[in-house]
Order: sequence, then C-alpha cells, then structure tokens
Amino acid sequence: MPSLPRNVRRQLLGWYQSNRRDLPWRRTADPYAIWISEAMLQQTRVETVIPYYERFLDRFPDVQALASADLDDVLGEWAGLGYYSRARNLQRAAQIIVEEHAGHLPDDPEQLRALPGVGRYTAGAVASIAFDRPEPIVDGNVTRVLARLLDMHDDVGKPAAQRRLWEVAGELVKGPEPGDLNQALMELGATVCIPRAPRCLACPLLRHCQAYRKSDPAGLPVKGRKKPPRRVEAVAALVLRRGRALAVRRPPSGLLGGLWELPGDDLQDREKAPEGILRGLRERVGLEVTNPQKLGTVEHIFTHRLLKLHVFRCDEAPRGRTRLSGFDAHRWLPPTSLRELPQGGVTRKALTLLLGEPP
Ligand code: SF4
Repeated sequence: MPSLPRNVRRQLLGWYQSNRRDLPWRRTADPYAIWISEAMLQQTRVETVIPYYERFLDRFPDVQALASADLDDVLGEWAGLGYYSRARNLQRAAQIIVEEHAGHLPDDPEQLRALPGVGRYTAGAVASIAFDRPEPIVDGNVTRVLARLLDMHDDVGKPAAQRRLWEVAGELVKGPEPGDLNQALMELGATVCIPRAPRCLACPLLRHCQAYRKSDPAGLPVKGRKKPPRRVEAVAALVLRRGRALAVRRPPSGLLGGLWELPGDDLQDREKAPEGILRGLRERVGLEVTNPQKLGTVEHIFTHRLLKLHVFRCDEAPRGRTRLSGFDAHRWLPPTSLRELPQGGVTRKALTLLLGEPP
C-alpha cells in the first residue's frame, strides 16, 4: 500500500490555518484544559461538549481542584454526557498527577498512558497538542481520511489495518507543528471528508486522494459488522415513605458507577415486571411494598445493550429497614430533589415519566 506524498503535510497545515473552527479548547495552551476536552470529545459531538467543557473548567479550573473534588460533584457536572467512567477516570488520574507528577500533566506519552482512562489516542492528542510532541492520533475522523487517501479496503477494525493507520499517521505527524497537523486531520474528517457525502471538491488533498481517483470514497472506510446490542429489561420504582422517595447509588466502578438511581433490578429469565419489582425491592433494598402501580416504560441505549425499564410508583409506605445489596449508599429525599443527584439518562427519563418535565 502506498505512503502519502510529502506535501500532504504542508497542504493540510495550510488548509487548517484558514479553515479551523474556533473552539474553546483551541484558545488555550493549558495541558489540563486540553486533556479535559479530549476526554469529553471521545464518543461525544463537539456542539454537545462545548457547554460541558466550559462549566467543568469553571468548576474545576485545574488538576488540584479536580483531584480534591467530591466525586458526586464531578459526576454532577458530567451528567448528560454519558460514558461516566470517563469522569471517574479523570478524577483518579488527577489525583495521580497531584501525587506523582507534582500537579503537572506529564508530556511523555508513556507516562500519560499510565493514567486511568488515557489510551493511545488521548495520550497522542495531549502530547502533540499541548506539548508539541510528534505523536500520532487515530480516531474515527482520522481513520476515514487516511483510509480514503490510501484507498484502503481492509476492515479498519482489524489489528493489521489499525497498525497500518497508526504507522501512516506516525509518518505524517513527524515535522513542525505536530499538534496542528493532528487537529487538521481530525478537522478535515469532521467538516470535509465526512462519512456519507464527502465534499471532495472542497478538499485540499483531492490531488492525492486514491479513493477519489480509483474507487468510491463514500464506501470507505470498510467496517466489519457490529454485534447488535443485547436487549435487557429492568424494573425501578419511586418508593415513597412519609413524602420522601428512596434513591440509591451504584458502586464506583462498572456501568453508571457512582450515579444515583431509583431502586430496582434487572428482570430475571421469564420474570414479569410486576413480580420483578416486588422481588427487586426486597432483594436489593430490603423493602416489602404492596400495590406498586406501573406508570409506563422508558428505553435507553448503552453501547452494548438496549435497556427497557418498567417504571413503578409505590405510594403505600414499604415495610422493613433499608438494607442495600449491590448499591453503596441511599437517601430519602423529597421526590423533586431526586433530579438534583448525579444520574444517568435512563434515570432522568424515568423521573420525567414519574414527575413530569423538569421545570
Ligand atoms: S478527496 Fe474526498 S475522499 Fe479524498 S480525502 Fe478529500 S474529502 Fe476525503
């Protein structure tokens, strides 16, 4: 497979200088801020990230502030961005940076990769953008641009294709302005070399693009089929006692770790929702309820599962003392205060069903 001609680099940088979008993380040289933006941008669109990024930096302006924050506050600022392990990892990494690196992000990609949640992509992005190190990055945008430039028809999910992409990105980034070069590649993928209908006539690399000349850019990159998400059903209830509702917190690791939700459980094999809510509340929070009323269902897509949550309301006071199994904290709060706890999208949907749209 051919390599890229040398002037691709110069053309990309020239194009980037006059076409780059003005994004808040491009106005700073602070490695901490750049790291936060890169963590947020994984799996999330630029327009969604901007207000989160600004609020997060207002609240936690430096590594020390993030390291010493309450995890509930960190998750609260993250609520709505999804993939909550990113927020937990950011805080753990901040604590390590304070303890082992005197509060400064390391500039060495290997040291960056030793931090929780920092993979090859994030390490390359921070090292190149914040520290001017010639480290490559390969994300979805870069993959698409390179696969098309090289007219690469291998499945880009396969290790050999990944190796090749990292190698080409590594060759390209060598030279001055490595951070801008990486950002230029990503920007081209985000604004010109877009998935379905690439704007080839506006592309600075048109002359070098093998797919444009030889095949069909829109058909690249080739991706193997993903497994469809697993369907899971679960139950949850607003359990009321003397006007207060029970909220429970998940343990810190795993899916939605550290977030608050309504008590309940996954349905077991062939179990119906009305039985499941009685069993779930008994087994997971030690409470016996009578006459739970089903209000409806909400659905939520996680990366590998499609969750259907049956939502109940229990107005009659439950019997028993709260004993947690698989949760690590609980609170009885006025129902509307449940919305203020750090929570995932599925709990927000369930609360909207139970309490109406937030004011
Ligand atoms: S010419 Fe078209 S397919 Fe090739 S890199 Fe540019 S936008 Fe992408």
